[in-house]
Parts: sequence; C-alpha cells; structure tokens
Amino acid sequence: MSDANGPGCIFCQIVADRSPAARVAEDEHTLAFLDIFPATPGHTLVVPKTHARDLLDVSSDDLAACTAMAQRVARRLVSELGADGVNLINACGAAAWQTVFHVHLHVVPRYSGRDQLVQPWTPAPGDPAEMTALAERLRA
Ligand code: 5GP
Ligand code: ZN
Repeated sequence: MSDANGPGCIFCQIVADRSPAARVAEDEHTLAFLDIFPATPGHTLVVPKTHARDLLDVSSDDLAACTAMAQRVARRLVSELGADGVNLINACGAAAWQTVFHVHLHVVPRYSGRDQLVQPWTPAPGDPAEMTALAERLRA
C-alpha cells in the first residue's frame, strides 16, 4: 500500500485512538466518525482500519466493508437525524478534490430545502459517437 501509516496519516491516528474524533460506528474492518468540516449536520467519514491511499489502492474487501458501513450510517442519518436523502462521495486523487490520502467515503445527509449543497456539474447530453468510442476503450 502506498503512503505510510502512523504519524503521517491523520486517519490512521484516529483509527488508533491517538487523535480525537466523534466516533459514530465501528466494526472489525472500518471506522465511521464525523467530519470536522461538515457539509451538513451529520456528515460522516467511513475509513478502512488498514491504511490505503485511495480508491485505486484499497483492497476490494476493505472497500466492500466501507460501503456496508456507509449504508449502516446512511440509515442512521435518515432514522435519527431525519435526513431526506444521502450523498455518498469519494474523492480519488488531488485532481478529484482528495485532501486526506487515507481512502474514505463521505456520507453526507441531505435536508430538502434546508441545506446549501449544489450539484457539482451541469447535466448536458454527451456526444453519442464519442461515448461509443469511450465505452469501447473502457471495456476490458
Ligand atoms: P477529502 O477532501 O480527502 O475528500 O476529505 C477529507 C475530509 O477529511 C475533509 O472533509 C475534512 O474536513 C476531513 N478532515 C480532515 N482532517 C480531519 C480530522 O483531523 N478529523 C476529522 N474528523 N475530519 C478531518
Ligand atoms: Zn492512514
């Protein structure tokens, strides 16, 4: 795995309980805690306990465990905080807004008419020929 565990990684510090965090849930492979700069009230981060840099680096087992934990948290955000919806967000790489290089899922509760978040792209139809060519390149 790339990047070092331990003192260099704030999320490894939180997993090890050497840095404080508002913990929400935990299982054998993952930890969920509140984001210190919440997009909305209840904004939670889900991390694997084993350090991995990003979506490309993390094992599929740990990613699956994080996804299951994100679903568990999302259900709590709806049932306990009255969220009307939830965005599940991952930033992979600095170009995609990643700032902490220990892979994590943002579980962001949404409150209809009561939060300020906006969709980060403007939907517009793709060029069909370009899409056909791209799909061809992406098929493995
Ligand atoms: P990224 O930008 O990598 O997708 O998300 C990193 C997130 O981690 C940010 O939303 C940021 O607010 C949060 N964060 C950074 N440092 C800490 C910390 O020390 N504790 C907690 N709870 N969240 C943090
Ligand atoms: Zn780490």
